[in-house]
Amino acid sequence: MSHIQNEIKRITATLPTNVRLVAVSKYQPIEKLMDAYACGQRLFGESHAQELKQKHECMPKDIEWHFIGHLQTNKVKYIAPFVSMIHAVDSYKLLCEINKQALKVNRIIPCLIQIHVAQEETKFGFTPEECKWFFQHEDWKNLKNVRIKGLMCMATNTNDAHIIREEFHKAHALFQEIKNTIFVDSEDFSECSWGMSDDYPIAIEEGSTLIRVGSNIFGARM
Ligand SMILES: *Cc1c(COP(=O)(O)O)cnc(C)c1O
Repeated sequence: MSHIQNEIKRITATLPTNVRLVAVSKYQPIEKLMDAYACGQRLFGESHAQELKQKHECMPKDIEWHFIGHLQTNKVKYIAPFVSMIHAVDSYKLLCEINKQALKVNRIIPCLIQIHVAQEETKFGFTPEECKWFFQHEDWKNLKNVRIKGLMCMATNTNDAHIIREEFHKAHALFQEIKNTIFVDSEDFSECSWGMSDDYPIAIEEGSTLIRVGSNIFGARM
């Protein structure tokens, strides 16, 4: 078994049944993705629209592709025909564009709302307050070609596990609050996307259902 396959087996073996591994393959060559595919991995995450489009075109069609990075509105059209989930919706404008492009190809695209809980200023996403405002006031219910499935976040890039845990905890509390107020009559709101190579064990303890792991599996990116 290759290193990639070993890592996938090792990580997958530790996951509770409600948590899925998104193998983050951005900047990695097709051969490495195919190595992961060969041991059964079917869920991949990419963060550049054109790269994702190319990989989708030349890889097996039973792969579920998640877009995990910052998505510019003018790039949505490249991925709308096939993407299985868009993780980092950080504005109502982007959600409207995803809806528009999904309508064109007659699809309903599952989306996650990105929230900003980390200390870094540069990270994208809604603050918890903006997120609540969004769900209470924006016209998202009328966007029939997107389905909001949950929340996504990134923790501060730090070695301090307490800070990371606190941020994921805050994200999960917000998730629960929105689920129990806005989505009381719906099963749609069920996904929490947090946890990367360095912090996914903490993320799982703090309610994650989708961990996005790249370098642990594929090694350093090109
Ligand atoms: C690159 C990336 C990851 C994976 O990061 P690793 O540290 O390599 O596991 C996860 N989430 C997002 C949004 C990313 O851009």
